Amino acid sequence: MRPGQARCLAVCAGCLQGPVSRILLLVRIGIHTSTSGSLEKGALRAAEIGANTLQIFSASPRMWKASIRGEAQIHAIKRAREKFDLHPLVIHDNYLINLASCEEWLRVKSIESFRGEIERALAIGAEYLVAHPGNCKGHSVEMGIHTLCVALGDATRDLDTSGLTVLLENTAGSGNALGSRFEELAVMRMHAANYTSLAIGFCIDTCHCLSAGYNIATVDGLRETVGLLESILGLDNIPVVHANDSKTPLGSHVDRHEHIGRGYIGEEGFRRILTHPKLRGKAFIAETPVDVEDDDRRNVQTLINLCRKSRTTTKKSS
Ligand SMILES: [Zn+2]
Ligand SMILES: [Zn+2]
Repeated sequence: MRPGQARCLAVCAGCLQGPVSRILLLVRIGIHTSTSGSLEKGALRAAEIGANTLQIFSASPRMWKASIRGEAQIHAIKRAREKFDLHPLVIHDNYLINLASCEEWLRVKSIESFRGEIERALAIGAEYLVAHPGNCKGHSVEMGIHTLCVALGDATRDLDTSGLTVLLENTAGSGNALGSRFEELAVMRMHAANYTSLAIGFCIDTCHCLSAGYNIATVDGLRETVGLLESILGLDNIPVVHANDSKTPLGSHVDRHEHIGRGYIGEEGFRRILTHPKLRGKAFIAETPVDVEDDDRRNVQTLINLCRKSRTTTKKSS
């Protein structure tokens, strides 16, 4: 499928008729793509497989040292986003960063590295920077949250961050990972305002929700979870949802992403999430595994197909 064609499936009402077109028109479906080689490559791959939003790393996610992306690369990704209507652009931060660490060397390195993340996100023109809240091993949850907020202040000192929103991501809650409870995320956002003027919202990961004990796979569980998101975090503060199925069951506290429809959330679970009226307008971005070639395309297409309310056009899930 050519990029233009694929994109139509998700966003171009003119190419489709009837109510389906109106539903699809509102939907932003994307995936994390690789930018090894160039930033533009990530955007082109997203467009090629039918996505209309994407997430990338702005540098290697497992190295402290960030490679510099030149002006030409930045210009090229901006051009590709415009051409293929790829919005929003989300950057995920480096996995090594732990702004909540009680180990000073790690916190100092994390602050420096996160500042770099923000500077690159601003340069690239990304709307959102997704960040894991961090790990509070060695001190209490309260102290971990306080440490994170002070660190956010240090990382943004004297920086003009307008145009960028940092999204704190909910976690599966393994070990001492902060942010598996929505209440913790809410406190982080509130307390951070004492230290930084950075705009802060949330990214909700469906796999992490299930692993943390929020049963978004069932009708009642999803209703309850969306209710909690609304009352605790505010749905307007959640522009991005990480759409990942889960290899492990409810409450496992294990973070293992599965292909859409093949895990404990399942196809019907995702259909309910994608068509939930209160989640309309969110950007759904998959971070699913690539076990064989084109798994990225299949997961994006599955998400697009599941945006239809009826199951007539997709295979019945088990
Ligand atoms: Zn995620
Ligand atoms: Zn995860």
